[in-house]
Amino acid sequence: MTTALNLVNVSLEYPDGGSTLKALDAVNLSVRRGEFLSLVGPSGSGKSSLLAVAATLVTPTAGLVVIDGQDVSALKDAQRTALRRDKVGIIFQQPNLLPSLTAVEQLLVREHLRGHALKQARRTAEELLDVVGLSGAAHKRPHQLSGGQRQRVNIARALMGNPLVLLVDEPTAALDHERSESIVRLLRQVTDEFTTATVMVTHDTEFLPLTDAVATMRDGRISRAAVPSAQPN
Ligand code: ADP
Ligand code: MG
Repeated sequence: MTTALNLVNVSLEYPDGGSTLKALDAVNLSVRRGEFLSLVGPSGSGKSSLLAVAATLVTPTAGLVVIDGQDVSALKDAQRTALRRDKVGIIFQQPNLLPSLTAVEQLLVREHLRGHALKQARRTAEELLDVVGLSGAAHKRPHQLSGGQRQRVNIARALMGNPLVLLVDEPTAALDHERSESIVRLLRQVTDEFTTATVMVTHDTEFLPLTDAVATMRDGRISRAAVPSAQPN
C-alpha cells in the first residue's frame, strides 16, 4: 500500500509572550491508504494542530507535508486549495450542519456553491447516506436527527469529494458510549471501503482496537505504536 499522508520533521511554532510555543516539534508520521490511525494525547499536546497541518489549513514553521506524493509547501494557494478539495476530508467534533437543509442537501452545498451539475452529485450523496446508515433520513433536517445521526451526516459529507486522506477530530466527544462505538465502527468501515488514510483524534482508548495503530502526542512530539489488544472483560 502506498503512503497517502506523510509528515516529515514537521514543526509548528506559535508566538507565546516573549518566547515561542512548539505546538508540533519535529513530527514524523506516515499513513497509508486503508490505514486507520488513532491519535491520542493530553489536551494541548498538539493533536488538533497536527490535523490542521495535515489538512493543509495551517502551514508548518518547518518540515514537509506530503499528500499523495505532492509536497504541499511547493504549491501555490490555489493549487493547495484544489489539493485539499480533491484529496482531504475533514470531520470535526461538531457536525456544523446548516439548520434549514435536509441531510442530502448538506452533502450538496459545496457542489451547489461551485455551480456543478447536481444530478450526479445527488446520486453520490444518496449512496453515501446509505453507506453511513441514513438512507431513510435523507430528507430530514438536523433537528429531526439524533446526535449520532448528525455525526453520520458529517461523515458522509466529508466523503463527498472521495478523499484519500480523512482527518477526524474527536468525533465522539458529544456522544454517549453506544453511539460513540458505532461512529468509530463506521469510520473503520469507510476506511476499508474507500481505502482512505484515516487519522482520528480520540479520547476513547477502549476503541483503539478498532484501529490499526496508535500515535501518542505529548508536548508537540509524537510516538507511534501498535494498538493494544482488546481488554478482556
Ligand atoms: P490538542 O488538540 O492536543 O488539545 P492543540 O493542537 O489544540 O492541542 O494545541 C497545541 C498547543 O498549541 C497548545 O498549547 C495550544 O494552546 C497551542 N495553540 C493551538 N492553536 C494556537 C493558535 N492559533 N495560537 C496560539 N497557540 C495555539
Ligand atoms: Mg484538539
